[in-house]
Amino acid sequence: MDRHGDSRERSVMTGAHGPKPFTGSTVAVVGGGWSGIAAAWYLAGGGAEVTLFDEQDRLGGRCAGTELGSRTVTLGGKNIGRNYTYFRDFARTLGSVAFEPFGINSSRVEDGRLRTIDSSARLRSATVLARSTSPRDGIRLLRLASLVRRHEAEGHLGGPALTALALRHSDPPLHEYFGPRACAALLRPLTVRTTGAEPDEVHLGTLGCQLGLLMDSFDQPTAGFDPLFRAFAQRVTVRLGTRVTRLARAGDRVVGVLAAPTSTKTPTLHPADTVVVALPAPSAARLVEEAAGELAAELRQIRYFPAAVIVAEYERPVFPERVRSLVFGPEEPLSNAGAYGLAERNIVRYTFSGRAARRRLAADVPDADLLDLAEDLLGAHFPVRRQDRRDFVAGRWVWAYCAYSRFHERRLRRLAGLGAAVPGLEITGDYVRGASIEQCFRAARARVSALAARWSG
Ligand SMILES: Cc1cc2nc3c(=O)[nH]c(=O)nc-3n(C[C@H](O)[C@H](O)[C@H](O)COP(=O)(O)OP(=O)(O)OC[C@H]3O[C@@H](n4cnc5c(N)ncnc54)[C@H](O)[C@@H]3O)c2cc1C
Repeated sequence: MDRHGDSRERSVMTGAHGPKPFTGSTVAVVGGGWSGIAAAWYLAGGGAEVTLFDEQDRLGGRCAGTELGSRTVTLGGKNIGRNYTYFRDFARTLGSVAFEPFGINSSRVEDGRLRTIDSSARLRSATVLARSTSPRDGIRLLRLASLVRRHEAEGHLGGPALTALALRHSDPPLHEYFGPRACAALLRPLTVRTTGAEPDEVHLGTLGCQLGLLMDSFDQPTAGFDPLFRAFAQRVTVRLGTRVTRLARAGDRVVGVLAAPTSTKTPTLHPADTVVVALPAPSAARLVEEAAGELAAELRQIRYFPAAVIVAEYERPVFPERVRSLVFGPEEPLSNAGAYGLAERNIVRYTFSGRAARRRLAADVPDADLLDLAEDLLGAHFPVRRQDRRDFVAGRWVWAYCAYSRFHERRLRRLAGLGAAVPGLEITGDYVRGASIEQCFRAARARVSALAARWSG
């Protein structure tokens, strides 16, 4: 497989004229986030009659849109890497989606000065990074980064070299493998942003997929994801506001789902030849528990961390052009604050993740108080004034970020074995390849390809 994936295999699953291995079969997909959408998309492309269920009233899961005044904003994931080839294929097939560059621009305060890393100024950024670590850690990080750059497989979970390295060192948490300077300056901003975890909570074997994200360049869809969701819902049957309460079984086989509109709570049976559970691992564990206890137990070992995001609009720009985002340290509940878009420097997206944020979220601190606190923190560096605030929206997720598990690659192999032992059931999610929109597509594509191979064989 090359850096950009195997495009031939992609077209097999989506092309109008490609083989249709699933013709005549019915599939129920549980979950209308990107994992479920991708699974439904590839299965429908292979000829299956797919029904997708989501308990919310909008598609998108953690990337669903929310109204801020007259516009729709995305509280969860919104940035699309240049290496997101599967996602971009999907978007292209559904229509012309306009993207605007977003890049990586992240600053932190060090000794009272702002240090900025910007994807358009790589040399200066590399110097900032080099100064932030010990020589040993600098070399280790450079080696890993070069591995991820050269081998596409190392940029997602289960990359062979990263897995071997992790095994040699008993898959330590990052703070045991790297020194405190590298953890504070480079790794914490990365882990908190991509996994919601502190460096002592995330393991070496999963660092490749985080570095893969760091080394990509990002765009965001100009009009958000809603046009894509609408186009998708015209091609696949989507049941929103419908919660799947149980898997239906006949003997050891899964034969459909029991699903109830959230308004009535009375479930009805929806028979299906295959059920795809496309949920965060803890939700998936609950749903598959009755049908596959061991599978559920493995899924429960995968860690997710909570987060809150607030998007607030102000009368005037908060960030200057050169500095678009500020990362905060471990003592603050605000992990970062950034401009919503290049042209929207008056809209600020505040993310609360990491250990200090978790304490506030567990104490149920109201959104308005979190925002006041965030404005005080950001206000020490940029002109953000409460009286300039026009409006804000907030979102919280208990299972916001997947932080994987120790020896995650072994767990993935066990999950694959246990899943294969339950006929009629498939699982996918952001714990399989990595917690990004692209990896949701790649994980779903791999599952669907494996299913196609089984059906054809
Ligand atoms: C704050 C934040 C920022 C992020 N930023 C980015 C980014 O910029 N770029 C990027 O690539 N990734 C980003 N990510 C990661 C990315 O958003 C996730 O990895 C991805 O969206 C996960 O999608 P999913 O489909 O696996 O799960 P989800 O999006 O959680 O979807 C699961 C769906 O299942 C539904 N559901 C649950 N239980 C049931 C049930 N019993 N019956 C029916 N429906 C059910 C839920 O309503 C939900 O819609 C971010 C994540 C967060 C939290």
